[in-house]
Amino acid sequence: MHFKNIRTFIVLLVFACILTNSYGQKKKRKEISNSNRGTPKLVVGIVVDQMRYDYLTRFSSKFKEGGFNRLLNDGFNCRNNHLNYAPTYTGPGHASIYTGTTPATHGIIANDWYDKELDRMVYCASDTTYASVGTASDAERMSPHRMGVTTITDQLRLHTQMRGKTIAIALKDRGAVMPGGHTANGAYWFYGKNEGIWITSSFYMNSLPKWVTSFNSSRKVDSYKKEWNTLNNITTYIESGLDNTAYEGLFEGEVTPTFPHNIPALWEANNNYDILKHTPFGNSLTADFAIAALDGENLGKDGITDFLAISFSSTDYVGHKFGVNSKEIEDTYLRLDLDLIRVFNALDKKVGKGEYTLFLTADHAAMHVPAYLKDNKIPAGYVEFKSLKSKLNEFLNYTYGTTDIVKNFSNFQLFLDHKIIKNLELEVHKVQETIAKEVLKNSFIDRVYTAQQMWGQQYTKGVPYILQNGYNQKRSGDILLVLSPGIINYYNTGSTHGSPQVYDTHIPLLFYGKGVKKGATAVRTEIPDIAPTIATLLGISFPNGTTGKPIVPVLN
Ligand code: ZN
Ligand code: ZN
Ligand code: ZN
Repeated sequence: MHFKNIRTFIVLLVFACILTNSYGQKKKRKEISNSNRGTPKLVVGIVVDQMRYDYLTRFSSKFKEGGFNRLLNDGFNCRNNHLNYAPTYTGPGHASIYTGTTPATHGIIANDWYDKELDRMVYCASDTTYASVGTASDAERMSPHRMGVTTITDQLRLHTQMRGKTIAIALKDRGAVMPGGHTANGAYWFYGKNEGIWITSSFYMNSLPKWVTSFNSSRKVDSYKKEWNTLNNITTYIESGLDNTAYEGLFEGEVTPTFPHNIPALWEANNNYDILKHTPFGNSLTADFAIAALDGENLGKDGITDFLAISFSSTDYVGHKFGVNSKEIEDTYLRLDLDLIRVFNALDKKVGKGEYTLFLTADHAAMHVPAYLKDNKIPAGYVEFKSLKSKLNEFLNYTYGTTDIVKNFSNFQLFLDHKIIKNLELEVHKVQETIAKEVLKNSFIDRVYTAQQMWGQQYTKGVPYILQNGYNQKRSGDILLVLSPGIINYYNTGSTHGSPQVYDTHIPLLFYGKGVKKGATAVRTEIPDIAPTIATLLGISFPNGTTGKPIVPVLN
Protein backbone atom coordinates (compact mmCIF):
# COMPACT_ATOMS: atom_id res chain seq x y z
CA MET A 1 0.00 0.00 0.00
CA HIS A 2 1.22 3.48 -0.90
CA PHE A 3 2.20 5.72 2.06
CA LYS A 4 -0.49 8.25 1.21
CA ASN A 5 -3.13 5.53 1.01
CA ILE A 6 -2.17 4.29 4.46
CA ARG A 7 -2.65 7.79 5.84
CA THR A 8 -6.07 8.04 4.22
CA PHE A 9 -6.91 4.61 5.63
CA ILE A 10 -5.93 5.65 9.17
CA VAL A 11 -7.96 8.88 8.90
CA LEU A 12 -10.96 6.84 7.75
CA LEU A 13 -10.44 4.33 10.55
CA VAL A 14 -10.35 7.06 13.21
CA PHE A 15 -13.46 8.61 11.69
CA ALA A 16 -15.19 5.23 11.78
CA CYS A 17 -14.22 4.81 15.42
CA ILE A 18 -15.68 8.19 16.35
CA LEU A 19 -18.88 7.29 14.51
CA THR A 20 -19.12 3.98 16.36
CA ASN A 21 -18.55 5.74 19.69
CA SER A 22 -21.44 8.08 19.09
CA TYR A 23 -23.86 5.17 18.92
CA GLY A 24 -24.57 5.43 22.65
CA GLN A 25 -23.63 3.69 25.82
CA LYS A 26 -25.90 0.64 25.62
CA LYS A 27 -25.00 -0.42 22.12
CA LYS A 28 -21.30 0.05 22.84
CA ARG A 29 -21.52 -2.05 26.00
CA LYS A 30 -23.25 -4.77 24.08
CA GLU A 31 -20.60 -4.97 21.37
CA ILE A 32 -17.60 -4.89 23.63
CA SER A 33 -18.87 -7.04 26.45
CA ASN A 34 -20.71 -9.79 24.67
CA SER A 35 -20.27 -10.59 21.04
CA ASN A 36 -16.59 -9.68 20.93
CA ARG A 37 -15.51 -11.29 24.17
CA GLY A 38 -17.93 -14.19 24.01
CA THR A 39 -19.17 -13.70 27.54
CA PRO A 40 -22.74 -14.62 28.46
CA LYS A 41 -25.43 -12.06 29.15
CA LEU A 42 -26.41 -13.90 32.28
CA VAL A 43 -24.91 -16.52 34.56
CA VAL A 44 -27.45 -18.68 36.37
CA GLY A 45 -26.24 -20.60 39.42
CA ILE A 46 -28.64 -23.30 40.58
CA VAL A 47 -28.19 -25.09 43.89
CA VAL A 48 -30.46 -28.02 44.69
CA ASP A 49 -30.46 -28.38 48.46
CA GLN A 50 -29.52 -31.94 49.59
CA MET A 51 -29.23 -33.34 46.05
CA ARG A 52 -27.25 -36.57 45.91
CA TYR A 53 -25.30 -37.26 42.72
CA ASP A 54 -27.14 -40.55 42.20
CA TYR A 55 -30.52 -38.81 41.87
CA LEU A 56 -29.38 -37.87 38.35
CA THR A 57 -28.93 -41.51 37.43
CA ARG A 58 -31.68 -42.96 39.61
CA PHE A 59 -34.44 -40.82 38.11
CA SER A 60 -32.92 -40.17 34.66
CA SER A 61 -35.36 -42.43 32.80
CA LYS A 62 -38.24 -40.46 34.34
CA PHE A 63 -36.89 -36.99 33.61
CA LYS A 64 -38.43 -35.22 30.61
CA GLU A 65 -36.58 -33.54 27.77
CA GLY A 66 -35.46 -30.04 28.57
CA GLY A 67 -34.89 -30.23 32.34
CA PHE A 68 -32.09 -32.19 33.98
CA ASN A 69 -31.70 -34.08 30.69
CA ARG A 70 -30.99 -30.86 28.80
CA LEU A 71 -27.99 -30.25 31.04
CA LEU A 72 -26.93 -33.91 30.90
CA ASN A 73 -27.21 -34.17 27.12
CA ASP A 74 -25.96 -30.75 26.02
CA GLY A 75 -23.80 -29.64 28.94
CA PHE A 76 -20.78 -30.86 30.88
CA ASN A 77 -21.26 -33.42 33.65
CA CYS A 78 -18.72 -33.68 36.50
CA ARG A 79 -19.64 -37.13 37.70
CA ASN A 80 -17.20 -37.34 40.57
CA ASN A 81 -17.83 -34.00 42.24
CA HIS A 82 -17.50 -33.65 46.01
CA LEU A 83 -17.60 -31.34 48.92
CA ASN A 84 -14.03 -31.34 50.25
CA TYR A 85 -14.80 -30.14 53.76
CA ALA A 86 -17.04 -30.91 56.72
CA PRO A 87 -19.46 -30.27 58.32
CA THR A 88 -21.59 -30.69 55.21
CA TYR A 89 -24.41 -28.25 55.89
CA THR A 90 -26.35 -25.64 53.90
CA GLY A 91 -24.55 -22.47 55.05
CA PRO A 92 -21.03 -23.77 54.35
CA GLY A 93 -22.27 -25.38 51.11
CA HIS A 94 -23.62 -22.21 49.57
CA ALA A 95 -20.63 -20.20 50.81
CA SER A 96 -18.15 -22.72 49.35
CA ILE A 97 -19.84 -22.86 45.94
CA TYR A 98 -19.75 -19.10 45.55
CA THR A 99 -16.41 -18.26 47.22
CA GLY A 100 -14.37 -21.03 45.59
CA THR A 101 -12.98 -22.07 48.94
CA THR A 102 -13.87 -23.90 52.15
CA PRO A 103 -14.85 -23.00 55.74
CA ALA A 104 -11.14 -22.90 56.68
CA THR A 105 -10.96 -19.74 54.59
CA HIS A 106 -14.48 -18.29 54.19
CA GLY A 107 -15.38 -18.79 57.85
CA ILE A 108 -18.91 -20.20 57.47
CA ILE A 109 -18.12 -23.28 59.55
CA ALA A 110 -21.74 -24.45 60.02
CA ASN A 111 -25.32 -23.14 59.94
CA ASP A 112 -25.15 -22.27 63.64
CA TRP A 113 -21.94 -22.39 65.59
CA TYR A 114 -20.49 -21.56 68.96
CA ASP A 115 -18.78 -18.18 68.77
CA LYS A 116 -15.75 -18.31 71.06
CA GLU A 117 -15.54 -14.53 71.54
CA LEU A 118 -19.24 -13.94 72.10
CA ASP A 119 -19.53 -17.15 74.17
CA ARG A 120 -22.83 -18.04 72.51
CA MET A 121 -24.28 -19.73 69.43
CA VAL A 122 -24.55 -17.59 66.30
CA TYR A 123 -26.43 -18.15 63.03
CA CYS A 124 -24.39 -17.94 59.81
CA ALA A 125 -26.53 -15.27 58.13
CA SER A 126 -27.91 -13.29 61.08
CA ASP A 127 -26.94 -9.65 61.50
CA THR A 128 -28.81 -7.59 64.10
CA THR A 129 -27.38 -4.34 62.75
CA TYR A 130 -29.94 -4.59 59.91
CA ALA A 131 -33.73 -4.78 59.82
CA SER A 132 -36.18 -7.15 58.16
CA VAL A 133 -37.70 -5.69 55.00
CA GLY A 134 -41.15 -6.67 53.76
CA THR A 135 -42.39 -8.28 56.96
CA ALA A 136 -43.28 -7.05 60.42
CA SER A 137 -41.23 -9.91 61.92
CA ASP A 138 -37.85 -8.80 63.24
CA ALA A 139 -36.39 -12.30 62.90
CA GLU A 140 -35.19 -11.75 59.34
CA ARG A 141 -32.25 -9.45 59.97
CA MET A 142 -29.64 -10.98 57.67
CA SER A 143 -26.37 -10.21 55.93
CA PRO A 144 -23.30 -12.13 54.71
CA HIS A 145 -21.00 -10.39 57.24
CA ARG A 146 -19.70 -13.65 58.73
CA MET A 147 -18.39 -14.72 55.30
CA GLY A 148 -14.91 -13.18 55.27
CA VAL A 149 -14.10 -13.35 51.56
CA THR A 150 -15.61 -12.34 48.21
CA THR A 151 -17.87 -14.45 46.04
CA ILE A 152 -17.89 -14.97 42.28
CA THR A 153 -20.92 -12.67 42.28
CA ASP A 154 -18.87 -9.96 44.08
CA GLN A 155 -16.08 -10.33 41.54
CA LEU A 156 -18.50 -9.89 38.66
CA ARG A 157 -19.86 -6.74 40.29
CA LEU A 158 -16.33 -5.38 40.79
CA HIS A 159 -15.31 -6.27 37.25
CA THR A 160 -18.30 -4.49 35.70
CA GLN A 161 -17.96 -1.33 37.84
CA MET A 162 -21.11 -2.50 39.66
CA ARG A 163 -23.07 -2.43 36.38
CA GLY A 164 -23.62 -6.20 36.23
CA LYS A 165 -26.46 -7.15 38.56
CA THR A 166 -26.61 -9.92 41.17
CA ILE A 167 -29.96 -11.28 42.33
CA ALA A 168 -30.14 -14.26 44.71
CA ILE A 169 -33.27 -16.25 45.50
CA ALA A 170 -34.06 -19.16 47.84
CA LEU A 171 -36.73 -20.24 50.30
CA LYS A 172 -33.97 -20.37 52.93
CA ASP A 173 -32.34 -17.04 53.80
CA ARG A 174 -28.84 -18.56 53.92
CA GLY A 175 -29.45 -20.12 50.46
CA ALA A 176 -29.78 -16.58 49.07
CA VAL A 177 -27.52 -14.52 51.36
CA MET A 178 -24.27 -16.46 50.79
CA PRO A 179 -24.61 -16.73 46.97
CA GLY A 180 -25.45 -13.01 46.71
CA GLY A 181 -22.15 -12.12 48.35
CA HIS A 182 -21.44 -8.70 49.83
CA THR A 183 -22.51 -6.65 46.84
CA ALA A 184 -25.81 -8.24 45.74
CA ASN A 185 -28.43 -5.89 44.34
CA GLY A 186 -30.99 -8.11 46.02
CA ALA A 187 -31.23 -11.35 47.98
CA TYR A 188 -34.75 -12.60 48.61
CA TRP A 189 -36.06 -15.43 50.74
CA PHE A 190 -39.43 -16.80 51.77
CA TYR A 191 -41.29 -15.85 54.90
CA GLY A 192 -43.92 -18.52 55.54
CA LYS A 193 -45.96 -18.59 58.74
CA ASN A 194 -49.08 -16.44 58.25
CA GLU A 195 -47.68 -14.36 55.40
CA GLY A 196 -46.34 -16.49 52.52
CA ILE A 197 -44.23 -13.71 50.99
CA TRP A 198 -40.76 -13.01 49.62
CA ILE A 199 -38.73 -10.68 51.78
CA THR A 200 -35.21 -9.30 52.28
CA SER A 201 -33.21 -7.28 54.81
CA SER A 202 -32.06 -3.66 54.99
CA PHE A 203 -28.53 -4.84 54.19
CA TYR A 204 -29.78 -4.85 50.58
CA MET A 205 -32.51 -2.21 50.46
CA ASN A 206 -34.97 -0.34 52.61
CA SER A 207 -38.13 -1.45 50.85
CA LEU A 208 -39.04 -4.23 48.43
CA PRO A 209 -38.95 -3.33 44.72
CA LYS A 210 -42.26 -3.09 42.91
CA TRP A 211 -41.90 -6.40 41.09
CA VAL A 212 -41.51 -8.21 44.43
CA THR A 213 -44.51 -6.53 46.07
CA SER A 214 -46.52 -7.26 42.90
CA PHE A 215 -45.47 -10.90 43.03
CA ASN A 216 -46.39 -11.07 46.73
CA SER A 217 -49.77 -9.42 46.23
CA SER A 218 -50.58 -11.69 43.26
CA ARG A 219 -50.92 -14.41 45.94
CA LYS A 220 -49.51 -16.97 43.52
CA VAL A 221 -48.47 -18.75 46.71
CA ASP A 222 -52.11 -19.55 47.52
CA SER A 223 -52.40 -21.65 44.34
CA TYR A 224 -50.09 -24.16 46.05
CA LYS A 225 -52.39 -24.68 49.03
CA LYS A 226 -53.58 -27.92 47.48
CA GLU A 227 -53.35 -31.66 47.85
CA TRP A 228 -49.90 -33.15 47.16
CA ASN A 229 -50.44 -36.25 45.10
CA THR A 230 -47.93 -38.00 42.86
CA LEU A 231 -47.30 -36.38 39.49
CA ASN A 232 -47.51 -39.75 37.71
CA ASN A 233 -49.30 -42.95 38.68
CA ILE A 234 -47.63 -44.08 41.91
CA THR A 235 -47.19 -47.62 40.59
CA THR A 236 -44.65 -46.25 38.10
CA TYR A 237 -42.43 -44.97 40.94
CA ILE A 238 -40.23 -48.05 40.95
CA GLU A 239 -37.04 -46.09 41.72
CA SER A 240 -38.05 -45.65 45.35
CA GLY A 241 -39.28 -47.66 48.33
CA LEU A 242 -42.83 -48.23 49.48
CA ASP A 243 -45.00 -45.21 50.20
CA ASN A 244 -45.87 -46.27 53.72
CA THR A 245 -42.75 -47.18 55.69
CA ALA A 246 -41.40 -46.72 59.20
CA TYR A 247 -38.47 -44.82 57.68
CA GLU A 248 -40.57 -41.76 56.90
CA GLY A 249 -41.59 -38.89 59.13
CA LEU A 250 -45.06 -37.36 59.22
CA PHE A 251 -46.52 -33.93 58.88
CA GLU A 252 -47.93 -32.75 62.19
CA GLY A 253 -51.44 -34.22 62.41
CA GLU A 254 -50.90 -36.80 59.66
CA VAL A 255 -51.57 -40.48 60.39
CA THR A 256 -49.59 -42.22 57.65
CA PRO A 257 -46.70 -40.90 55.47
CA THR A 258 -48.68 -41.60 52.31
CA PHE A 259 -49.99 -39.91 49.21
CA PRO A 260 -52.09 -37.92 48.81
CA HIS A 261 -50.76 -35.55 51.48
CA ASN A 262 -53.72 -33.34 52.31
CA ILE A 263 -51.88 -30.02 52.63
CA PRO A 264 -54.97 -27.80 53.19
CA ALA A 265 -56.12 -30.03 56.07
CA LEU A 266 -52.61 -30.01 57.60
CA TRP A 267 -52.12 -26.27 57.06
CA GLU A 268 -52.57 -24.76 60.54
CA ALA A 269 -50.91 -27.60 62.43
CA ASN A 270 -47.78 -27.17 60.29
CA ASN A 271 -47.34 -23.42 60.65
CA ASN A 272 -49.47 -22.34 57.68
CA TYR A 273 -47.36 -21.27 54.68
CA ASP A 274 -44.29 -22.94 56.19
CA ILE A 275 -45.74 -26.33 55.19
CA LEU A 276 -45.07 -25.47 51.53
CA LYS A 277 -41.33 -25.62 52.19
CA HIS A 278 -41.77 -29.36 52.91
CA THR A 279 -43.49 -30.05 49.59
CA PRO A 280 -42.32 -29.77 45.96
CA PHE A 281 -44.59 -26.72 45.70
CA GLY A 282 -41.92 -24.73 47.55
CA ASN A 283 -39.61 -25.36 44.59
CA SER A 284 -42.35 -24.42 42.10
CA LEU A 285 -42.88 -21.15 43.95
CA THR A 286 -39.12 -20.53 43.86
CA ALA A 287 -39.15 -21.10 40.08
CA ASP A 288 -42.13 -18.73 39.68
CA PHE A 289 -40.29 -16.05 41.64
CA ALA A 290 -37.00 -16.56 39.75
CA ILE A 291 -38.82 -16.22 36.42
CA ALA A 292 -40.49 -13.04 37.70
CA ALA A 293 -37.02 -11.73 38.65
CA LEU A 294 -35.81 -12.01 35.02
CA ASP A 295 -38.26 -9.31 33.95
CA GLY A 296 -38.44 -7.51 37.29
CA GLU A 297 -34.69 -6.96 37.41
CA ASN A 298 -34.07 -6.84 33.64
CA LEU A 299 -31.52 -9.62 33.93
CA GLY A 300 -29.42 -10.51 30.89
CA LYS A 301 -30.96 -7.76 28.82
CA ASP A 302 -27.86 -5.69 28.02
CA GLY A 303 -24.23 -6.36 27.23
CA ILE A 304 -23.07 -6.50 30.81
CA THR A 305 -23.16 -9.93 32.40
CA ASP A 306 -25.67 -10.32 35.25
CA PHE A 307 -25.90 -13.15 37.78
CA LEU A 308 -29.02 -14.94 38.99
CA ALA A 309 -28.45 -17.31 41.91
CA ILE A 310 -31.32 -19.70 42.61
CA SER A 311 -31.40 -22.28 45.38
CA PHE A 312 -34.16 -24.88 45.53
CA SER A 313 -34.62 -25.62 49.23
CA SER A 314 -37.67 -27.93 49.32
CA THR A 315 -35.62 -30.94 48.25
CA ASP A 316 -33.81 -30.67 51.61
CA TYR A 317 -36.97 -30.38 53.69
CA VAL A 318 -38.56 -33.35 51.89
CA GLY A 319 -35.38 -35.43 52.31
CA HIS A 320 -35.24 -34.66 56.01
CA LYS A 321 -38.88 -35.63 56.51
CA PHE A 322 -39.30 -38.66 54.25
CA GLY A 323 -35.76 -39.92 53.53
CA VAL A 324 -33.72 -40.30 50.36
CA ASN A 325 -35.43 -43.55 49.32
CA SER A 326 -39.02 -42.31 49.67
CA LYS A 327 -41.66 -41.94 46.98
CA GLU A 328 -41.94 -38.37 48.23
CA ILE A 329 -38.34 -37.68 47.18
CA GLU A 330 -38.91 -39.25 43.77
CA ASP A 331 -41.99 -37.12 43.23
CA THR A 332 -40.15 -34.00 44.40
CA TYR A 333 -37.40 -34.55 41.81
CA LEU A 334 -39.82 -35.33 38.98
CA ARG A 335 -41.60 -32.08 39.78
CA LEU A 336 -38.33 -30.15 40.12
CA ASP A 337 -37.50 -31.38 36.62
CA LEU A 338 -40.66 -29.66 35.36
CA ASP A 339 -39.79 -26.49 37.27
CA LEU A 340 -36.33 -26.50 35.68
CA ILE A 341 -37.93 -26.83 32.24
CA ARG A 342 -40.00 -23.73 32.99
CA VAL A 343 -36.92 -21.80 34.16
CA PHE A 344 -34.82 -22.87 31.14
CA ASN A 345 -37.62 -21.98 28.70
CA ALA A 346 -37.98 -18.57 30.33
CA LEU A 347 -34.22 -18.03 29.99
CA ASP A 348 -34.36 -18.99 26.29
CA LYS A 349 -37.17 -16.55 25.72
CA LYS A 350 -36.07 -13.63 27.87
CA VAL A 351 -32.27 -13.83 27.65
CA GLY A 352 -31.89 -15.85 24.46
CA LYS A 353 -30.81 -19.38 23.57
CA GLY A 354 -27.06 -19.65 23.82
CA GLU A 355 -26.76 -16.27 25.52
CA TYR A 356 -26.48 -17.52 29.10
CA THR A 357 -24.25 -19.85 31.10
CA LEU A 358 -25.66 -22.07 33.79
CA PHE A 359 -24.40 -24.43 36.46
CA LEU A 360 -26.33 -26.78 38.69
CA THR A 361 -24.94 -28.31 41.86
CA ALA A 362 -25.89 -29.03 45.47
CA ASP A 363 -24.83 -27.74 48.88
CA HIS A 364 -24.41 -31.31 50.25
CA ALA A 365 -25.94 -34.74 49.73
CA ALA A 366 -27.57 -36.99 52.37
CA MET A 367 -27.48 -40.48 53.81
CA HIS A 368 -29.98 -43.29 53.45
CA VAL A 369 -32.22 -43.69 56.49
CA PRO A 370 -30.11 -45.85 58.88
CA ALA A 371 -33.13 -47.97 59.88
CA TYR A 372 -33.63 -48.90 56.22
CA LEU A 373 -29.95 -49.80 55.82
CA LYS A 374 -30.03 -51.88 59.00
CA ASP A 375 -33.09 -53.75 57.78
CA ASN A 376 -31.03 -54.61 54.73
CA LYS A 377 -28.07 -55.88 56.80
CA ILE A 378 -25.91 -52.82 56.16
CA PRO A 379 -24.11 -51.46 59.24
CA ALA A 380 -25.87 -48.28 60.28
CA GLY A 381 -27.56 -46.73 63.26
CA TYR A 382 -28.37 -43.82 65.48
CA VAL A 383 -26.56 -42.17 68.29
CA GLU A 384 -27.70 -39.79 70.97
CA PHE A 385 -24.97 -37.68 72.49
CA LYS A 386 -26.49 -37.90 75.98
CA SER A 387 -24.45 -40.94 76.97
CA LEU A 388 -21.29 -39.51 75.44
CA LYS A 389 -21.76 -36.31 77.43
CA SER A 390 -22.42 -37.98 80.77
CA LYS A 391 -19.49 -40.38 80.36
CA LEU A 392 -17.28 -37.51 79.32
CA ASN A 393 -18.35 -35.39 82.31
CA GLU A 394 -17.49 -38.22 84.66
CA PHE A 395 -14.05 -38.42 83.08
CA LEU A 396 -13.53 -34.65 83.20
CA ASN A 397 -14.46 -34.49 86.88
CA TYR A 398 -12.17 -37.35 87.72
CA THR A 399 -9.24 -36.06 85.64
CA TYR A 400 -9.47 -32.29 85.99
CA GLY A 401 -11.85 -31.77 88.91
CA THR A 402 -14.29 -29.83 86.73
CA THR A 403 -16.63 -30.38 83.78
CA ASP A 404 -16.41 -26.69 82.85
CA ILE A 405 -13.24 -27.45 80.92
CA VAL A 406 -15.55 -28.32 77.97
CA LYS A 407 -17.44 -25.16 77.11
CA ASN A 408 -19.51 -26.28 74.17
CA PHE A 409 -20.28 -29.33 72.03
CA SER A 410 -21.70 -28.54 68.60
CA ASN A 411 -21.24 -29.58 64.96
CA PHE A 412 -19.20 -32.62 66.08
CA GLN A 413 -16.67 -30.37 67.80
CA LEU A 414 -15.73 -29.85 71.43
CA PHE A 415 -14.75 -26.34 72.46
CA LEU A 416 -12.48 -26.18 75.52
CA ASP A 417 -12.16 -23.36 78.07
CA HIS A 418 -8.57 -22.25 77.58
CA LYS A 419 -8.67 -20.04 80.69
CA ILE A 420 -9.52 -22.95 82.94
CA ILE A 421 -6.78 -25.03 81.30
CA LYS A 422 -4.32 -22.22 82.01
CA ASN A 423 -5.49 -21.87 85.61
CA LEU A 424 -4.97 -25.60 86.09
CA GLU A 425 -1.46 -25.07 84.69
CA LEU A 426 -2.08 -27.61 81.93
CA GLU A 427 -1.09 -27.47 78.27
CA VAL A 428 -3.96 -27.04 75.81
CA HIS A 429 -2.69 -29.55 73.28
CA LYS A 430 -2.22 -32.23 75.93
CA VAL A 431 -5.75 -31.68 77.25
CA GLN A 432 -7.08 -31.84 73.67
CA GLU A 433 -5.34 -35.16 73.13
CA THR A 434 -6.42 -36.66 76.44
CA ILE A 435 -10.09 -35.79 75.90
CA ALA A 436 -9.97 -36.86 72.25
CA LYS A 437 -8.66 -40.30 73.23
CA GLU A 438 -11.36 -40.61 75.89
CA VAL A 439 -14.12 -39.71 73.39
CA LEU A 440 -12.74 -42.25 70.92
CA LYS A 441 -13.68 -45.01 73.38
CA ASN A 442 -17.34 -44.55 72.35
CA SER A 443 -18.22 -47.30 69.89
CA PHE A 444 -19.98 -44.93 67.46
CA ILE A 445 -16.99 -42.57 67.20
CA ASP A 446 -14.79 -43.59 64.27
CA ARG A 447 -11.95 -41.08 64.57
CA VAL A 448 -10.92 -38.00 66.51
CA TYR A 449 -8.59 -35.16 65.61
CA THR A 450 -7.31 -32.27 67.67
CA ALA A 451 -6.87 -28.63 66.74
CA GLN A 452 -3.17 -29.19 67.39
CA GLN A 453 -3.13 -31.73 64.56
CA MET A 454 -5.04 -29.37 62.27
CA TRP A 455 -2.40 -26.68 62.89
CA GLY A 456 0.59 -28.95 62.74
CA GLN A 457 0.30 -30.75 59.41
CA GLN A 458 -1.11 -30.57 55.92
CA TYR A 459 -3.47 -33.44 55.14
CA THR A 460 -3.86 -34.21 51.45
CA LYS A 461 -6.49 -36.94 51.32
CA GLY A 462 -9.25 -38.82 53.09
CA VAL A 463 -11.26 -37.78 56.12
CA PRO A 464 -8.53 -35.64 57.77
CA TYR A 465 -8.17 -33.63 54.53
CA ILE A 466 -11.91 -32.97 54.58
CA LEU A 467 -11.84 -32.01 58.25
CA GLN A 468 -8.90 -29.69 57.73
CA ASN A 469 -10.66 -27.84 54.91
CA GLY A 470 -13.56 -27.32 57.31
CA TYR A 471 -11.31 -26.31 60.18
CA ASN A 472 -11.12 -22.55 60.68
CA GLN A 473 -8.30 -21.50 62.99
CA LYS A 474 -10.30 -18.66 64.52
CA ARG A 475 -13.73 -20.27 64.73
CA SER A 476 -13.47 -24.05 64.97
CA GLY A 477 -13.29 -26.18 68.10
CA ASP A 478 -10.49 -27.99 69.94
CA ILE A 479 -11.50 -31.58 69.22
CA LEU A 480 -13.15 -32.85 66.04
CA LEU A 481 -15.23 -36.04 66.16
CA VAL A 482 -16.14 -38.27 63.25
CA LEU A 483 -19.03 -40.71 63.62
CA SER A 484 -18.62 -44.18 62.16
CA PRO A 485 -19.90 -44.45 58.58
CA GLY A 486 -23.65 -45.11 58.60
CA ILE A 487 -24.19 -43.60 62.05
CA ILE A 488 -26.16 -40.39 62.44
CA ASN A 489 -27.29 -38.18 65.29
CA TYR A 490 -30.85 -37.61 64.12
CA TYR A 491 -34.49 -38.69 64.41
CA ASN A 492 -35.40 -42.29 63.64
CA THR A 493 -37.11 -41.22 60.42
CA GLY A 494 -35.91 -39.22 57.42
CA SER A 495 -32.43 -38.47 56.10
CA THR A 496 -29.77 -36.09 57.26
CA HIS A 497 -26.24 -34.91 56.41
CA GLY A 498 -23.29 -33.11 57.99
CA SER A 499 -20.57 -35.79 58.01
CA PRO A 500 -17.33 -35.97 55.98
CA GLN A 501 -18.46 -39.35 54.57
CA VAL A 502 -18.86 -39.87 50.85
CA TYR A 503 -22.66 -40.16 51.04
CA ASP A 504 -22.76 -36.55 52.23
CA THR A 505 -20.08 -35.21 49.87
CA HIS A 506 -20.94 -36.68 46.44
CA ILE A 507 -23.11 -34.13 44.63
CA PRO A 508 -23.96 -33.25 41.02
CA LEU A 509 -22.11 -30.58 39.08
CA LEU A 510 -23.42 -29.71 35.62
CA PHE A 511 -22.40 -26.81 33.41
CA TYR A 512 -24.42 -25.68 30.41
CA GLY A 513 -24.64 -22.90 27.84
CA LYS A 514 -22.36 -20.21 26.53
CA GLY A 515 -18.66 -21.04 26.85
CA VAL A 516 -19.31 -24.60 28.03
CA LYS A 517 -18.14 -27.68 26.19
CA LYS A 518 -20.33 -30.72 25.84
CA GLY A 519 -18.91 -33.66 27.76
CA ALA A 520 -18.32 -35.41 31.03
CA THR A 521 -15.52 -36.37 33.36
CA ALA A 522 -15.08 -38.92 36.10
CA VAL A 523 -11.95 -37.16 37.37
CA ARG A 524 -12.57 -35.85 40.89
CA THR A 525 -13.70 -32.24 41.05
CA GLU A 526 -14.52 -30.31 44.20
CA ILE A 527 -17.02 -27.66 45.18
CA PRO A 528 -14.40 -24.84 45.36
CA ASP A 529 -13.63 -25.46 41.67
CA ILE A 530 -16.98 -24.03 40.57
CA ALA A 531 -16.26 -20.33 41.20
CA PRO A 532 -12.83 -20.27 39.47
CA THR A 533 -14.32 -22.19 36.52
CA ILE A 534 -17.01 -19.55 36.08
CA ALA A 535 -14.47 -16.75 36.69
CA THR A 536 -12.24 -18.15 33.93
CA LEU A 537 -15.20 -18.46 31.57
CA LEU A 538 -16.08 -14.81 32.25
CA GLY A 539 -12.48 -13.62 32.18
CA ILE A 540 -12.76 -12.03 35.60
CA SER A 541 -10.75 -12.26 38.82
CA PHE A 542 -11.20 -15.22 41.14
CA PRO A 543 -12.90 -14.61 44.50
CA ASN A 544 -10.20 -13.40 46.92
CA GLY A 545 -10.02 -16.57 49.02
CA THR A 546 -10.14 -19.06 46.14
CA THR A 547 -8.45 -22.39 46.80
CA GLY A 548 -10.16 -24.38 44.00
CA LYS A 549 -9.02 -24.42 40.39
CA PRO A 550 -10.81 -24.10 37.05
CA ILE A 551 -12.15 -27.36 35.65
CA VAL A 552 -10.41 -27.03 32.29
CA PRO A 553 -12.35 -29.61 30.22
CA VAL A 554 -15.57 -27.65 30.87
CA LEU A 555 -14.32 -24.56 29.12
CA ASN A 556 -14.77 -24.02 25.41
ZN1 ZN B 1 -28.70 -27.76 52.52
ZN1 ZN C 1 -44.46 -41.97 51.83
ZN1 ZN D 1 -30.57 -30.32 55.43
